[in-house]
Amino acid sequence: MPRDPVCGNYVDADTAYKREMEGVTYHFCSADCADEFEVNYEEYLDVEEQRSAKEQ
Ligand SMILES: [Zn+2]
Repeated sequence: MPRDPVCGNYVDADTAYKREMEGVTYHFCSADCADEFEVNYEEYLDVEEQRSAKEQ
């Protein structure tokens, strides 16, 4: 199940709220989260990278 990178909620894969960035599709719980991600895209990417680095 995809995860909303903005608020951290799990979202349905066929949600209407999606954004594609650099060939990767991101899913969101709401238009607000999708818009927020678009504006602060690089910030959220950094958070994801830090998180996966910690888990390894
Ligand atoms: Zn959200």
